[in-house]
Amino acid sequence: MFEALGQRLGSIFSGLRGKVSDSDLIEFTAQIKTALLESDVALEVAEGFSNKVLENCKSKSDEINKSTNPASRIFEIVNTELTQVLGGSARRLQFAKTPPTVILLTGLQGAGKTSLAGKLAYYLKSQGNTPLLVASDLQRPNAVTQLQVVGDSIKVPVFAPEPGNGIGDPIDVAKAGVKFAKDKLHNFVIVDTAGRTGVDQALMQQVIDIRDSIKPDETFFVVDAMIGQDAVRTAKAFLDGVGFDAVILTKLDGDARGGAALSIVELTGKPIIFAATGEKVTDFDLFYPDRMASRILGMGDVASLSEQAKRAMPEETSKKLEDKFLKGEDFTFEDFLSQLEAMKNMGSMSKLMGLLPGAAGMKKQIENFDESELVRTRAIIESMTPTERNNPKVLNGSRRARIARGSGRAISEINSLVERFSQAQKVMKQMRGGANIPGMGALAGMSNLPKPQQINLPKKKSRSGNPAKRAIEEGI
Ligand code: GDP
Repeated sequence: MFEALGQRLGSIFSGLRGKVSDSDLIEFTAQIKTALLESDVALEVAEGFSNKVLENCKSKSDEINKSTNPASRIFEIVNTELTQVLGGSARRLQFAKTPPTVILLTGLQGAGKTSLAGKLAYYLKSQGNTPLLVASDLQRPNAVTQLQVVGDSIKVPVFAPEPGNGIGDPIDVAKAGVKFAKDKLHNFVIVDTAGRTGVDQALMQQVIDIRDSIKPDETFFVVDAMIGQDAVRTAKAFLDGVGFDAVILTKLDGDARGGAALSIVELTGKPIIFAATGEKVTDFDLFYPDRMASRILGMGDVASLSEQAKRAMPEETSKKLEDKFLKGEDFTFEDFLSQLEAMKNMGSMSKLMGLLPGAAGMKKQIENFDESELVRTRAIIESMTPTERNNPKVLNGSRRARIARGSGRAISEINSLVERFSQAQKVMKQMRGGANIPGMGALAGMSNLPKPQQINLPKKKSRSGNPAKRAIEEGI
């Protein structure tokens, strides 16, 4: 979503060289303001932001110019201000003193409320909670069925006594849903409400009536980030009409310019609590202003990336791989398969690549990445026998021909995968001395990724002189 802004800011920063005068700073902040306006950020927010950056830079100009790298000091100031404009620190979910915590979702039709209800329920459930979904959108055709389908898919119960499509009273459903949750000891209730295509009084009144009857602990305003400045206008109308505690942005994966996300906190005075970045239930997370600022400024979002990796790969699998690696054992196709499995759980590869530092500069590669390559690679490995997976050296011509037939791929593809795999195995061995990580990308065919980071891996432990101790160390 913020690619264009990230690229513009990147080029503005690259124009900063050596010491900076006040007039350089004025020029620099004017360029930032223009870049923000072009990204659809509201005028007052763009102005306020660039003025704050200018004030801060001017007040620290001695310090900036004494530093060995003035541009990086200015970069830090912009980063801090950007984090502030996005809300400062992350807003956490507030729990009710006595469960259940009641969450009311409001917003326009099509904002993504019903999908969001599912995503939020899935998120809460994966943290050990017992959410209940309540179908109080009785207006939009199919909204009740949609909620039931999503509830089924994530194994979260849905309270839906009315069929919807214009039938039933949403206030009664909401009240009965909360009571049901109390009786059945659910610790969260998520109430989905109806939206309209535009803000209107009847809609506001219905949401107000639901709010007054269930007294939610959290009221969230769900808004489609793709609708630009309209998102801010709608948010203000809901804030005046119904009131809400925090904003949830959906469709941050879209190619809109991101102005809504950057303007909404400042203009409503309410924080963004969650963000949705796709149609799958896993495309959802807490909104972290600092991480978003890093992404916009091209520093990537390594914190989210590693959290996603942790969530996707069971701890025992990653521990096993790490142990093998430290012991100097060969990386096998079996290990590779478990990594591919984890990558599948992590979501789309292009999205993950977007979290890497410098992602703005590799937009083309990210767009061109062929997700089906991973599926083909899996099919090939799944056609191998356990012996072949654990010892690829046995893969002679006839075995390769059999694998090609089994996976429906050409022999040249099998050869190329085995070739890339043995190269990666070799590099992994060298790497134990502290060289570069080849990454799974090399295997999955992403030879066009940027150079990997240098990392310091623990060196292989020295072996004990005591044979008994050594036997323990070596796991004999
Ligand atoms: P509601 O009317 O507010 O309940 O909206 P829905 O939940 O039905 O969502 C409207 C459309 O937006 C559906 O087609 C969803 O699949 C899609 N959608 C929702 N959230 C996202 C998102 O974060 N990214 C993308 N790309 N699509 C989304």
